[in-house]
Amino acid sequence: MSLVIVGSLAFDTIETPFAKKERIIGGSCSFSALAASYFSDPKVVAVIGEDFPEAFVELLQRRGVDTRGIKREAGKTFHWEGRYGEDPNQRTTIKTELNVFQDFKAQLLPDYASSDILFLGNIDPDLQEDILKQVHKPRLIAMDTINLWINTKLEALLRVMREVDIFFANDEEVRIIAGELNLIKAGRKLLEKGPSLIVIKKGEHGALLLGKDFLFGTLAYPCENVIDPTGAGDSFAGAFLGYLDKLQEFTPAVFRKAAVYGSVLASFTIEDFSVERLTSLKDEDIDRRFAALQQLVAF
Ligand code: AMP
Repeated sequence: MSLVIVGSLAFDTIETPFAKKERIIGGSCSFSALAASYFSDPKVVAVIGEDFPEAFVELLQRRGVDTRGIKREAGKTFHWEGRYGEDPNQRTTIKTELNVFQDFKAQLLPDYASSDILFLGNIDPDLQEDILKQVHKPRLIAMDTINLWINTKLEALLRVMREVDIFFANDEEVRIIAGELNLIKAGRKLLEKGPSLIVIKKGEHGALLLGKDFLFGTLAYPCENVIDPTGAGDSFAGAFLGYLDKLQEFTPAVFRKAAVYGSVLASFTIEDFSVERLTSLKDEDIDRRFAALQQLVAF
């Protein structure tokens, strides 16, 4: 079993109606690798600057993450700044400073290039495409993205999309790419663009999985204490793919359970800032929420 995750390791500045946190650990790779680490031992590819704490890389290692693919370059780490309104599903990007990501060219290690599952987490689609050229026929490729790339690099993003099996995106992103407001119709349009499964993340309303002859919905775990929604989507995708890697089976039945695990890991992420809640979960914590979600929709 092997899962490679490509994404950002970042400093995030987050503003919610209740608090502002400056330069806390974030990034698509941080959240997805930690979430995946509860199911598998992911290998990560990312770039960090001189200012990024080695302690976080060591924390990833303690969770079984293979960090040989992290490159430290001269300069500053990627920095993203976002603000949430009263509605945690509404987020505004204030600033994206690419910094060391600007000129980053990933060189995959040989054992990374021959992985079973490749997750092209949210990063510049040109970089995603470059990674695609280096891998030797993974059994499954998935990708994620964010508004910035849809607005600035749509052509490259659509080229990457042609090559992937699973496309993760939130409802707003799916509507924009498809040019269609109805989410089901929009999802079906995206199925024509390459992937065989579209995973539409709907924040506190859960997620919808859409394939040619497949439709599945999972609720979000009902959290009473939402502190910071950042990273929920990445955690969902990390847990989803970590579970697939653990089972090495890519069937609709496995996708359903993977989506519920995705919801569970995302629910922990949003209960605190940064990756705080993802660092020391116990299997029982995860199992309890998985069972609660099962109970919630049993009738
Ligand atoms: P999510 O809340 O799951 O959509 O992911 C939020 C994370 O994505 C934050 O921790 C950011 O550091 C990271 N992020 C935001 N914009 C970008 C971008 N353009 N490229 C790569 N990572 C990003």
